[in-house]
Amino acid sequence: MRTITLANGNTVEVDCLSCALTSGKVEPEGGVIAETEHFHAHQDVAYPIRGLVIVASKRHIKGLDELTEEEQHDYITFITKIRKAQREVLGIEHVYYFYNEDTTHHFHLWMVPRYDWMYEFGRSVESVRPVLLHARNNGGDHAKVLEGIRLLTKVLNE
Ligand SMILES: [Zn+2]
Repeated sequence: MRTITLANGNTVEVDCLSCALTSGKVEPEGGVIAETEHFHAHQDVAYPIRGLVIVASKRHIKGLDELTEEEQHDYITFITKIRKAQREVLGIEHVYYFYNEDTTHHFHLWMVPRYDWMYEFGRSVESVRPVLLHARNNGGDHAKVLEGIRLLTKVLNE
């Protein structure tokens, strides 16, 4: 078991956060944004950034090369749909995609929107961690984050 600190300051004890979220054991703030047969999309639970979507597989796997052919197709189609929604309803012009295989949780992709304030932390991958920590330490704009979840959920489930 490991302890995970959520964006609202609460902690949860889980073996694998991705399993807990995709199975519904842990409810992400704002609920499920969208799901397919093989994947589950939710607002990131640790960092309050509007439009920061996590796409987790429903199977407990670690590597991209563990995806079946059907999952591969489902994955790229799903991510593309979410990316389009981020652009259309949240006006997000650029997204950073981050995915690491040596994670303690299982397979999940971060879709991190870029906002103007983030550029003071630099560009490219080195800016991601400071940006996330800045958002967490400043609490983010809770109402805006929730509104972002609502807008994405609506357009992705029409
Ligand atoms: Zn898992």
